[in-house]
Amino acid sequence: MYPNLLQKRVALTPNRAAFEMNGKTWTWSEVYGRALTIAEKLPIKEGERIGFWTKNSESLYFFLLAAMLKESEVVLFNDRLTEEEFLYQQQDAEVQLTLTESSDRARLDNVFLFREVEEGIPNPFTMRPQWNPDRTISIMYTSGTTGRPKGVRQTLENHMSSALGSALSSGVLPEDKWLCVMPLYHISGFSMIMRSLIYGSALQLHTRFEVDAILEAIEHDGISHLSVVTTMLGQLLEQYEKQPFPIPSMFRTVLAGGGPVPASYLKQAQSNGFPVVQTYGMTETSSQTCTLLAEDAIRKLGSAGKPLFFAEVRIDGEEEGEVWVRGPHVTPGYIGAAAHIDPVTEDGWLKTGDIGRIDEEGYLYILDRRSDLIVSGGENIYPAEIEQVLVGHPNIQEAGVTGKPDERWGQVPVAFVVLRPGEELPELDSYLGQHLAKYKHPKEIRVVEQLPRNASNKLIRRELKKWL
Ligand code: ATP
Ligand code: MG
Repeated sequence: MYPNLLQKRVALTPNRAAFEMNGKTWTWSEVYGRALTIAEKLPIKEGERIGFWTKNSESLYFFLLAAMLKESEVVLFNDRLTEEEFLYQQQDAEVQLTLTESSDRARLDNVFLFREVEEGIPNPFTMRPQWNPDRTISIMYTSGTTGRPKGVRQTLENHMSSALGSALSSGVLPEDKWLCVMPLYHISGFSMIMRSLIYGSALQLHTRFEVDAILEAIEHDGISHLSVVTTMLGQLLEQYEKQPFPIPSMFRTVLAGGGPVPASYLKQAQSNGFPVVQTYGMTETSSQTCTLLAEDAIRKLGSAGKPLFFAEVRIDGEEEGEVWVRGPHVTPGYIGAAAHIDPVTEDGWLKTGDIGRIDEEGYLYILDRRSDLIVSGGENIYPAEIEQVLVGHPNIQEAGVTGKPDERWGQVPVAFVVLRPGEELPELDSYLGQHLAKYKHPKEIRVVEQLPRNASNKLIRRELKKWL
């Protein structure tokens, strides 16, 4: 058994700062008090599912903790889902009720406002001081990059081992403060709440990604850790270079992941003293499986590092192949329509659908998704590699690459690019020649206004195929 995380945390460090948002701060005992008050009003029983369909907010934070105290399972829906997508997931997840901040959404069946619950009558309940490790804490949907999003179960054991693995990799100090601008409906965001409970670190929550506000927090608020996806990292670095400031010594780790991180960004971060490390994880692994240590950031540029303490990784193939992951952080499975898919082999290996290689020192390099691989004249071409080279060019803001059928080669790569404002498509032959073998050069480069992205802002390459 594990302790009731919030009760234990408040017993250990009641007066330490726990949560910050919009300039307000709550200690652990204040957080506990408010979460308990809400828990008494939640019209939901142990083991039942409660949904949340909102951006990061103060209410979301407290309600998530309240639902945990009540031992119900929280289901986090992406705030950017369309109504139709939401209704599908709500039904798929069999939630009893969903909470939101939007009156427009609250007119849907079984959807209510946070406020309506807070105005309700309290019903005292018995809280357990110990929690079962197999208990499902959260359910969240995959991004839907390769198909329909799948609801993933994340147990207490998954979160605990994930948080401990992360701590053993980057260390924990009593004054640590994590800045969370990743949505709480993604594991990258939600895992920060779990870490904060387990480590006793403070959490500063932001609703949206505003470059200036993030840089300001890094400069003045004693932030120690930050998690970002590639597009955020690019914007942070660009703005930082315009208005640099001395990086505080507290600021130790920027985790970058969720998708391929271009080497050009990693180099730019290094030269600015930004402590960026690449990390590899997925919804099914309750956050990080591998993380590169800061001391290897340059020597192993482009690698997602070694498996964290509890994790194992292997490659199904000689040099390159599908990445398999094993460890206590791996989900027991999906729910709803995807429940019949067993993502894990009998001996506990999760097949990730990603292709990677492991170098002789044991460092993992993620190459791409298996489903997006282009085979051209018998050679494997990874769209991500070409995209990363393209966005390394100063005129190109975003790039998406897919394979086009070709009589001679079977398939050839074609690129779609979004240019930086005011720029034109340059002649790219010599630039590509410096960075990519000839067979990987896109046979066509088309300029577009925008790339197809899902609610998680990930590129959907199967849509690009339709554009051909
Ligand atoms: P779906 O499973 O529905 O297609 P998804 O896989 O995008 O969506 P997530 O769980 O949000 O859903 O994302 C995990 C995936 O993100 C990984 O399997 C991998 O493809 C990609 N990813 C994460 N970190 C990295 C990284 N450092 N480098 C390359 N790809 C990464
Ligand atoms: Mg996936």
